Amino acid sequence: MKKFWLYFSLSIFVCFILPALLTKIEVKTYSENDNILEKQDYIQNEENSSNKNEYDYQKYGTIKLLHKNTGEVEEVALDTYLCNVVSAEMPADYEIEALKAQSVVARTYTIYKAQNPKHENADICDDSTCCQAWVTKETRLSRWEESKRESNWQKIENVVNQTSGKIITYDGKPINAFFHANSGGTTELPVNVWGGSNLPYLQIVETAGEEGYTQYSSEVILSKDELIEKLKEKYSDIQINFENSEDIKILEYTDSNRVKTVKFGNHEISGVETRTLLGLKSTNFEIIRQDENIKFSVKGYGHGVGMSQTGADMMAKQGSSYEDIIKHFYTGIEIKNINEI
Ligand SMILES: [Zn+2]
Repeated sequence: MKKFWLYFSLSIFVCFILPALLTKIEVKTYSENDNILEKQDYIQNEENSSNKNEYDYQKYGTIKLLHKNTGEVEEVALDTYLCNVVSAEMPADYEIEALKAQSVVARTYTIYKAQNPKHENADICDDSTCCQAWVTKETRLSRWEESKRESNWQKIENVVNQTSGKIITYDGKPINAFFHANSGGTTELPVNVWGGSNLPYLQIVETAGEEGYTQYSSEVILSKDELIEKLKEKYSDIQINFENSEDIKILEYTDSNRVKTVKFGNHEISGVETRTLLGLKSTNFEIIRQDENIKFSVKGYGHGVGMSQTGADMMAKQGSSYEDIIKHFYTGIEIKNINEI
């Protein structure tokens, strides 16, 4: 009988839990920049602009990449590094022009990080929650179907090589090129996510067609107890009268129609904090009262600032070039060759 339960548990793990874990890892690689740590970067970069390193193209022909797990710093050619980044950041079956846009965004982000370093002996690290997602070629290939490995890698190398040297500038300087998975149709201003001040090239823009992607809609359903439990992580004295319909209510929206403030009983909580505490995919949500549960119906995936990856893919499907895509998501910018600035 013991053996039966052992095999039973093992098969449950292999059939259900393991695939779920693997799926989770895969999804995470496509939602880089979608993290709270970026807040520190954003504020630090805006406030300490005098700390910037002098720009030196020769130096950034290669970059010093810190491997977070081992602490080893590897010097690697910029475009080689970018193949590992782009293949970690965007699905390889996206349109060529979307992948080119992602290459230029990742190159710009890398140069920006190298100019505004976070690590002492390295330009950037391989941790998506700290700097930018990166996978080894071997790991990347092993996650693709065998028949697609060679063509997918070739596609990634081509988009990086065909945009080689291209970066996005505003006022002659590389921009802080934020991006996210799915905007839900409208992008967001950085001030509504991280506070501080806005940047002229990060404005609210709309993109049609993002609803066709799996990242567009999601929901989180919580029992009353679960909701209280999650909010208690931050607000230990939280009290909600579930009989009173006014006790859970969205009070304010941002200009991009994301939730700015929610009333939960005796507290008013920002949309950004609600997203973190309840594990929502974005701050673009509705709250629906069900009999015993509270349903959060969410649009989009990520912070919503800068380029939407699914929006980029949709634009490419409709015939936009990577330059059109970048100019759509970043306002008033120029795409320049790295050695022209
Ligand atoms: Zn880092």
